[in-house]
Formats: sequence, C-alpha cells, structure tokens
Amino acid sequence: MIATAALALLLLQVLVPWSDGELDIHHISTGRGNATLFVLPDGTSLLVDAGARPASPGFPEAPSRPSDARRPGEWIARYIARTLPEPKLDYVLVTHFHDDHMGGLADVVSALEIDKLLDRGWPDYDYPRPLDFERVRAYRRVAEKLDVEAFEPGSNDQIVLKRRPYPKFEIQNLTANGVYWSGQGDETREQFPALDTLADEDYPSENMSSLSFRLRYGAFDYYTGGDLTGIPNVGHPDWQNMEKAIADAFGPVDVHVVNHHGSIDSASPEFLAALKPRVHIIPAHSATHPAPSVLKRLLSERAYEGPRDVFILQFREPTKAAIGPRANQVKSGAGHVIVRVAPGGGSYRVFVVSDADESGTVLAEHGPYRSQ
Ligand SMILES: [Zn+2]
Repeated sequence: MIATAALALLLLQVLVPWSDGELDIHHISTGRGNATLFVLPDGTSLLVDAGARPASPGFPEAPSRPSDARRPGEWIARYIARTLPEPKLDYVLVTHFHDDHMGGLADVVSALEIDKLLDRGWPDYDYPRPLDFERVRAYRRVAEKLDVEAFEPGSNDQIVLKRRPYPKFEIQNLTANGVYWSGQGDETREQFPALDTLADEDYPSENMSSLSFRLRYGAFDYYTGGDLTGIPNVGHPDWQNMEKAIADAFGPVDVHVVNHHGSIDSASPEFLAALKPRVHIIPAHSATHPAPSVLKRLLSERAYEGPRDVFILQFREPTKAAIGPRANQVKSGAGHVIVRVAPGGGSYRVFVVSDADESGTVLAEHGPYRSQ
C-alpha cells in the first residue's frame, strides 16, 4: 500500500508520456542553442534545430545543461530517445546555418534514424553567396548521408502527419531566404531585393534568411521562426525587417517562440500586435537573451491587450540584473518548456521540466489555456 502511494507520488512528479491525439512541443534546454521536438497528434516526430554553440573565448557563457559531461547534441539525442516511442525522427528542420541551431546535428544523426532533413540551402548552398564556411561544410558532410529537401515557403503539405490524418492539423511554411507566404493559398512574395542591386554590407544575413512556420491544430496556433529579425540595425534598409513582412499573413497565435532568442532586434511592436500571443517562449542561452527592451514589449499591454505568460529556457542572473524587477514577471527562467495541446487542439498546458538532470521532473504546470 505504501509502495503504491510512493509510486503515485513519483508519477505525479514526472511528465506523463504523450498519448494519441495530443500534440507535444518540447523546447529543450541545453544552454547551447535551440532544439525543439514536436510529437504530432498521430505520433509523427519533427525536430526543429539541434544547436550546439561552442563557448566564445573571453565571453561568459551559460552553463551547459544538464552538464558538460556530454556534448549538447548528445543531450538532445538522449532527450529525444527517451521521449519518442522509437528512436526515429520523421523530420528534422534546420532553420539556418549557425552553430546554435545546427552544431549538434551530427550527434543527433549518429544516435537516431532520420527520414528527412529540411533546410534553406539544399542542393547548392549558395544563397545569398556561396556558404563556403567550415561550419556549413561540416553540416553538409552530415546532411549528405540523409534524404534532404529544400524547405518551400508557402507550402502547407511539406511537413505532414505520416501515420494517419487528423482533422484541422496543418504546418504552414512561412519563410525561407526572404521568400515569404502572402497568406493566400500557396502564394509567396520576395522580401529581399535582387542581390546585384545591393552593397556588400547590406546583403541578407543568415538570421534573416531563417525558415519559419505556423503550426495549427484545431483552434491552436503556434509560431516559430529561428533567428528572423524585426528591427533592422541602425542605418540598415527596412526590407531587412522580416517580422513586418510576415506579420499580416498569419496570426494571431496562442504560442509564440520569440525570434532570435529575444535579442534586441526581435519581437517588434508590429509583430506582437499582429500575433497577440497568450504564451511567449524564449529559447535563451546567452546573457543578451532576452534584451531588456524585448521583455518590456512582451509584457506590455500597450503592445496588445490581455494576459500573457513568458517562459525562458535559461534566464541568466546577469540578464535579470540588467532588466531589474520586471524580470520577476516571467513564469519560468530555467528548464525545458513543454507545450502539451489536448486532442483536437481546444486547450493546452505548459510544463516546466528540470534541465538539471534527465529525470523529467516537473517543476511547474501552467494552464490549461483555452486556444483562441
Ligand atoms: Zn540563434
């Protein structure tokens, strides 16, 4: 009897596994970049990014989570292996070619079977100029072993449920290389000017070339977009504002993954006004994530009305100190953030799970929120 009670207590403290019809979105905290595992309602699996940024010399980095005993990609692969029913990913999507989004891919590929890889560069890897960097060469050596496809902006049938259909489920591709969905059918537009009209220093950056998509399940809407930016650097042309380009094509959304880890050039007022998210998730791993001005906007009822909750994967002490008392308004500042959408998409909950070890201990549960 005592054993049963103890077991029940133990079960309450770890996240109950995904079950059929649910949509789970695991924002995995490694301290070294982005990695998000989706378990779609029929069990189809999708990994968006597998980041592993090396520590920069002379720059204080966040500690790796759970520890430095393994590489970030190994931690990501282990997280996936213990979360999915089988060690296989149907889709992996790399939003763009920076280490904090793809540096752990080799470790994920060596641990798990992968059906399809989607990126912004295949097959030529030459936009906006030849991607002749060691980090991209290393990526291509990994990608060569896989079935790769170029992500198609405007498409809503490139990432699909592979086991069986569910009504009102869709992944709508939004952007790639400055081409963006107009909001109508599969129509796209180009945000970047012809390259031969641009000065070298105004070329599109890796960040603004990021892939993005909207996931929809019933009334539930979710946005993620790598390191797209919404506030061009001072003196830079307005076409570099990718958030503005896409803001009116979709939205509002229930859950918003803040672009570029909440850096100073993300979450523009126009973007927030269009998306009106109930939940913001910031995949933070550096002291500059989020910028004080960005957190202020996320929490501002002048940006848009209504309640909202902010979850940060790794909210570092120097960042909190720079932000001040407003830092206390976030719902979590450490741990994996898991969005679990109920069958049909009508409501969802947010779980904060410890990233200190691999126990899966639930630190907090928020919601249920009603999908809008
Ligand atoms: Zn990044």
